[in-house]
Amino acid sequence: MPEIKSTAKTGSPTSTVRFAPSPNGLLHPGHARSALLNWRFARDHGGTFLIRIEDIDTTRARPEFESAIFEDLAWLGLDWSGPMRRQSEHFSDYEAALSELRKLDLVYPAFLSRGEAADRVREAETSGKTWPRDPDGAPHYPGDDRTLTTQQRNQRIADGKPYAWRLDMRKALDGLSQPLCWDEHGAGPHGETGRIAADPAAWGDVVLARRDVPTSYHLAVTIDDAIQKVTDIIRGEDLFASTSVHRLLQRLLGLPAPRYRHHGLVLDKTGRKLSKSDGATSIASLREQGATRADIIAMAGLPLQP
Ligand code: GLU
Repeated sequence: MPEIKSTAKTGSPTSTVRFAPSPNGLLHPGHARSALLNWRFARDHGGTFLIRIEDIDTTRARPEFESAIFEDLAWLGLDWSGPMRRQSEHFSDYEAALSELRKLDLVYPAFLSRGEAADRVREAETSGKTWPRDPDGAPHYPGDDRTLTTQQRNQRIADGKPYAWRLDMRKALDGLSQPLCWDEHGAGPHGETGRIAADPAAWGDVVLARRDVPTSYHLAVTIDDAIQKVTDIIRGEDLFASTSVHRLLQRLLGLPAPRYRHHGLVLDKTGRKLSKSDGATSIASLREQGATRADIIAMAGLPLQP
């Protein structure tokens, strides 16, 4: 593991926050909300505002989207402290963390393809069984691979069968000596605030390294927040439930616990959260149509001058 020193003590005079977009589309006013809340928090607390480019999905990340992110942020009047961290340049940090978890025997190679896993779930559900689903509605990964012997695993790997690394959730939770919580200074989607009891089991055996990429969102975000010494995580409430997984990984890897401030999302006229795939609502296209900085800040649901 890379050396990680904590600055995340409660009451610490310095705060570090980050805006962590994925460069797989153009930013919309929902991103502006997150970026502005982070920037304003750093300004008000004499803290540091960092940018992290979350580009582990190398098939979807594109350099032109990354340039557009910086252009939009500068247009919004935001400045940030360097150096910017680009996740695709740090795969070795995530591999080191995964190798720690392998040493603890808390991860296993998962060989089922998406289709195979979906078939399993369908079979169980048609025979009347209730299959557990995660907070995003995806079915939990079937547990089959957990019980393979080392010899069977090695044989499959030697046969070239592709695999992801998954956390053995049950084993990870069995080893915890103290309850897992976090301090929520914002609010979750149902107004949850204060001391929140984490519920990582709700996610099942999460992926920590994908078949095609040596990490996953959960692992990369947890490691980076520690390496970048992020003290306060300000992000959309759609990631509230994921915090349970991040807290678990922090505990397993001995990393500091940041404070969390989840915020409400910007919704479109039909009440749905804005999506990058809807180019019409991007900051870039709104700007082209004549929107001013004040207009975007208003669309982000924030006061112009807090
Ligand atoms: N990269 C994530 C996104 O664009 C944000 C991750 C986070 O803030 O933890 O939604």
